[in-house]
Amino acid sequence: MLGGPPVHLMWSSMFNPEKPHISRAVKWERIGAFFLPYWKQEVTVLVCILAGAALGLAPPLFTKHLIDASLAHRDLHGLWFDVGGMVLAASIAAILGVYQGYLNSVVGEGIMRDIRTSLVSHLHRMPISFFTNTKTGEIMNRVSNDVDNIDNVVTGTLVSIVTNVATIATTIVTMFWLDWRLSLLALVVVPLMILPLSPVGRRMYQVRKLTRQKRDQIESLTQETLSISGIVLIKSFVREAFEAARFYSASTDLMTLEVRLAMVGRWFIAAISAMVVIGPALVWLGGGYLTIYGAVTIGTIVAFVALLSRLYGPASALAGIQVQVVSALAVFERIFEYLDMEPEGEPAGRVAPAQVRGEIRFEDVSFSYGGGRRALDGVDFTVAPGQIAAFVGPSGAGKTTITQLVPRFYDPQAGRVLVDGIDVRDFDLQSLRSHIGIVTQETYLYHDTIANNLRYGRIDATQEQIEAAARAANIHDFIASLPEGYDTIVGERGHKLSGGERQRLAIARVLLKDPRILILDEATSSLDSENERLIQQAFVPLMLGRTSLVIAHRLSTIVAADIIFTVEDGRIVESGTHQMLLARGGAYARLYRTQFREDRERVAT
Ligand code: ATP
Repeated sequence: MLGGPPVHLMWSSMFNPEKPHISRAVKWERIGAFFLPYWKQEVTVLVCILAGAALGLAPPLFTKHLIDASLAHRDLHGLWFDVGGMVLAASIAAILGVYQGYLNSVVGEGIMRDIRTSLVSHLHRMPISFFTNTKTGEIMNRVSNDVDNIDNVVTGTLVSIVTNVATIATTIVTMFWLDWRLSLLALVVVPLMILPLSPVGRRMYQVRKLTRQKRDQIESLTQETLSISGIVLIKSFVREAFEAARFYSASTDLMTLEVRLAMVGRWFIAAISAMVVIGPALVWLGGGYLTIYGAVTIGTIVAFVALLSRLYGPASALAGIQVQVVSALAVFERIFEYLDMEPEGEPAGRVAPAQVRGEIRFEDVSFSYGGGRRALDGVDFTVAPGQIAAFVGPSGAGKTTITQLVPRFYDPQAGRVLVDGIDVRDFDLQSLRSHIGIVTQETYLYHDTIANNLRYGRIDATQEQIEAAARAANIHDFIASLPEGYDTIVGERGHKLSGGERQRLAIARVLLKDPRILILDEATSSLDSENERLIQQAFVPLMLGRTSLVIAHRLSTIVAADIIFTVEDGRIVESGTHQMLLARGGAYARLYRTQFREDRERVAT
């Protein structure tokens, strides 16, 4: 670090221009806020850099003294002194370099951790609509790749600016102090190194942009095809060869782009390397004349040539730093874009009752997911505390949408949703959700043990509580029969378990949470009768003593419901008990005749 990076690395890193447009969202104070907690380490790095730059000057000066004084006067003492000085300066510089590298890592990695954590926790607070509208691949890219890019900025660009400025300043001062004529000669070649920067940078930016797009494409391909659902799709349609060809083609495009990227500006880098030799040659020429006419000593020329290596590298790196700063800001811009997105449930109220009774009321609620079409249109109903309310109706009628408005997964555009007579928007969001338990058809489990998945319902649950919940959900005997019992890993998304087992685990998880309000989306897929019996039995303790909103697909649930709402086209068209609605002979009776025929037959036999 103290001696500067090798020329080829330096040049490849400086051509990293991003779109030279910075949004107003990127403010220096905002970026600085991430650096502030590490100010002590940063100051120490600064001190190390300055000390390193000063120490770097020592060897050329000792060389000059060695040639002009010690060797010229056959002074052995002087010889030892000069060589000792060189060794000592280099050794201290090396130790400082290691320490600085360590501090750089601490600062860089610390800032990355902080940014990544605030990004992820901010994303956790984003509304569900954000996740339905954004590709998972894109979110992953920002959280991992963009934040990784910041590491280069933190540990690379900033340190590079300070190091190079310090190196150049000290070197130039020393050069002019040694000989002003040779200094001017040495500085002549600097503009030649900077001029071709712009066209090469532009070209590199274009190729880099294409490379990034191609990488995005490959990442989303990988993610989609290697997920459990994707792989099942590939296998069931026997598309392995098709996918392999698609992947090969995208990878070949990336390969071509990477080769192009590697070749951009190669000739320029070659020219720069030549400059590093040509500069000293000019100094030898001018210095040679001056020596022959007795104006400078040989030691001065040798020291000068040694100093030049400390000048050209940092000078060319600094020339490219403007480009690096722009690219760094562009990365921050992408990150701030996410951090500035409004989190869900804003504004949220502060009502945070320890208990709720569980009355749910919809007052003339209308809701649209966007695009003009109304998913709900003037929905009005009340469910008393402790009641079981069943929602029935054709597919796409709006049943799921109704249940999603209670925990504020979405907010209605018109009307109000009330729990215990309080608008859900007046609740503290976390408090509201702590009173609601949700069991959906698509049970999500983490790739972890059964016990840990259940504990998600209550983090501090004891083993006894976990087992009691599993017993109530009719899943304990199954778990106990597994060789590893509660320590069995359920596999990616719980795919090592059957659909029925997963749902019973989900029921046990909600039992542990013990919410006052329950939202239950019954499975439509016909489970075998044994599994269904087990699940139906598990529903009994689940609904006991809670207000339950059930999207009902089974006759047994509907018959047990205190009130049934028939939903059609985003409206509640009927409500009443099973017997009342049958007697009315309306929408429910029609639905009953078609949809629940199989159930009816089964119940009858
Ligand atoms: P099913 O019984 O098939 O699950 P449902 O009665 O629960 O149907 P909803 O899921 O509430 O129906 O959907 C109501 C309407 O809203 C449908 O027309 C659906 O296409 C639409 N919809 C649902 N989710 C979204 C979404 N995230 N974005 C846009 N439209 C949506």
